[in-house]
Amino acid sequence: MYEICLLEPLLDQPRTRNTGMLLTFGTSSLWCLCMCCYVQILRIAPGSPKKTNDYAFGKDDDLSPQLISVCQENGTPRFCKMCKTFKPERSHHCRVCNTCVLKMDHHCSWINGCVGYKNHKIFLLFLFYTMIYVVWLFYNSMCLVLETVNVKPYSTSLKFIWTMYKVYFVTLWKILWNMWQSAWTRSWVPLLTGTPTLNMSIKFQIIIMLYLTFLFGVFLFGLTVIQLYLILHNRTTLEHIATHEQYIQLSILNTNTANINDDIKQNNSEVICLFPPEKRLYDIGLWNNWKLVMGNQWYLWLVPIQPPHLFNNDGYAFPYGDQAYRRIFKEASSTSSLQ
Ligand SMILES: [Zn+2]
Ligand SMILES: [Zn+2]
Repeated sequence: MYEICLLEPLLDQPRTRNTGMLLTFGTSSLWCLCMCCYVQILRIAPGSPKKTNDYAFGKDDDLSPQLISVCQENGTPRFCKMCKTFKPERSHHCRVCNTCVLKMDHHCSWINGCVGYKNHKIFLLFLFYTMIYVVWLFYNSMCLVLETVNVKPYSTSLKFIWTMYKVYFVTLWKILWNMWQSAWTRSWVPLLTGTPTLNMSIKFQIIIMLYLTFLFGVFLFGLTVIQLYLILHNRTTLEHIATHEQYIQLSILNTNTANINDDIKQNNSEVICLFPPEKRLYDIGLWNNWKLVMGNQWYLWLVPIQPPHLFNNDGYAFPYGDQAYRRIFKEASSTSSLQ
């Protein structure tokens, strides 16, 4: 639609051919990037835990000794009844995919799969590039409409506001009304009939594109901002919306730990119930959180490939944030003092 309505007229005329070629190049490059991300996200699975009865399997040695670990209410490791295997921290069972997914973010119907540990970066890039592409189409179609009604795109005058009002509300209302009339009277009423403000040289498809790109643009912008926020706070969508109790096992591997109450030291472990759940459990600072998903190499951040560190790490264990440690130790001390 964009190529037929916008690029072809530009390429046809010698005066605007250069602009048309530049726009064709820019649009095609963005489209290719979106497609690369889409193919990559379909290709790369989020990762599932290996089926094993050994809970310690896959634990990252670099993170030991682990003072705390997420557990079930009775203190036993998390277990998936469907997959019949231990569930590493942050992994969840997806009913649609029928498997456990490592560091599961959410199940996405657009990609017919889950977003998780190994494809989170690609998913963010997919959202980002698609948003840029849609905003680009919106900007171009808006420029074309404004040019036709002879208003400058950056004008902030009342004329601009009035024109946008007419383009968005009056025209949409008239198009919907004409569609209704066509259906009601069973005779075709041209869709742009009665749109007094717009020059009839604007193609109907451009108006539709203006609406669609605006709606998709707002939607994708919202999703991208939410994903960025969650990644920067090292939180998955499931962890962000969780409202149920969180059980943490506090193990005393290092008896010299100063912050811990003597009672807990004697028992060697303690199960602590956190309610509301600790959303900053894995928050290790904005910069570190970002690198955990996007990788250490800044020049690969915008390239839709998996960050190299994922190949050395298995997604079974994650470092805990200082704030979470402080809250857990505080709760552990208060629980012990009540007994
Ligand atoms: Zn499972
Ligand atoms: Zn799924």
